[in-house]
Amino acid sequence: MKITDIRLGMISVPLRVPFKTALRSVNSVEDVVVEIHTDSGAIGYGEAPPTGVITGDTTGAIIGAVNDHVKKALIGRDVDDFEDLMIALQGCILKNASAKAAVDMALWDLYGQLYHIPVYKLMGGARKSIVTDITISVNDPDEMARDAQNAIERGYDCLKVKVGKEPEKDIARLSAIRQAVPAKTCIRIDANQGWTAKEAVRILNGMQERGLDIEFVEQPVIAHDFDGLKYVTEHSYVPVLADESVFSPADALKIMQMGAADLVNIKLMKCGGLYNALKIASAAEVYGVECMIGCMLEAKISVNAAVHLACAKKIITKIDLDGPMLCSEDPILGGAAFDEKQITVSDEPGLGIKGIEAGKIRYIPV
Ligand SMILES: [Mg+2]
Repeated sequence: MKITDIRLGMISVPLRVPFKTALRSVNSVEDVVVEIHTDSGAIGYGEAPPTGVITGDTTGAIIGAVNDHVKKALIGRDVDDFEDLMIALQGCILKNASAKAAVDMALWDLYGQLYHIPVYKLMGGARKSIVTDITISVNDPDEMARDAQNAIERGYDCLKVKVGKEPEKDIARLSAIRQAVPAKTCIRIDANQGWTAKEAVRILNGMQERGLDIEFVEQPVIAHDFDGLKYVTEHSYVPVLADESVFSPADALKIMQMGAADLVNIKLMKCGGLYNALKIASAAEVYGVECMIGCMLEAKISVNAAVHLACAKKIITKIDLDGPMLCSEDPILGGAAFDEKQITVSDEPGLGIKGIEAGKIRYIPV
């Protein structure tokens, strides 16, 4: 199975409601799709969201990385030389994790098709279905409480609440949500780097003293402040999950060695795909640090790849793969079945993606 061409396109998928965090507000998913074509007729699919404020990767950068660097490294080569392809992909350009993630998953898709095995089985095959949380955007307390009630009515029992814009208001937000949902509802919060370390400890301990029962907090402090993260981990009653602090496997290892976080969030767009995500999972297994798997605002191609990883590895115990459920439509054919919180992986060879609905992809001329 030789790689003959790599084609790029854009998909646009509207969100049900605007997605708001401490860093941005977004109305639709506008992602780059990667198709790797082969001489066997098999196509591998990948997807990358431009998430400039988090990864630094813009639409133009993703397209440029693939056209100017990845194509030279991969076209003409055999999918069966998989390890060599992974090394070539990761080495063909510095950084550009989102572009690499899209190409990486398309290669895994092809490798699974070549050997007629679903990728989650290839990587470990721990389970066939997982349960995701759903994100509640930052808004006024009343609106967030209504959004939380709506999520409970849709069957979710775990909410990921975005906080961190106005520290003083966050306790009011969480109180409103806690009062609006059943007592057994799991509430995790994501500050998206919004606090200083001392502010974080004060706010988090205040939340616990008010009985808000927070499962864990994601990324309380700015990404590069590993010492601040460690301070919060040591001084807060609430467990800490490192998200924006962990891009590469080396970041993950350092966080674990320092004891700077209780949990680590794996996202394919931060680490450059499944090949590196497996390294983070392996390090986490060694250190006994449980992982969450998350996504950016992504449609089903790339979230589906994350589903395969989550179904492969037991160390991934927290699932935050609500991207497709935040979208108001699904133009992607095949892949995992997303039924609100319940996600069931596909047993088709590779990643099981069959294509994109006619008229829903705009190919980019080379
Ligand atoms: Mg996060």
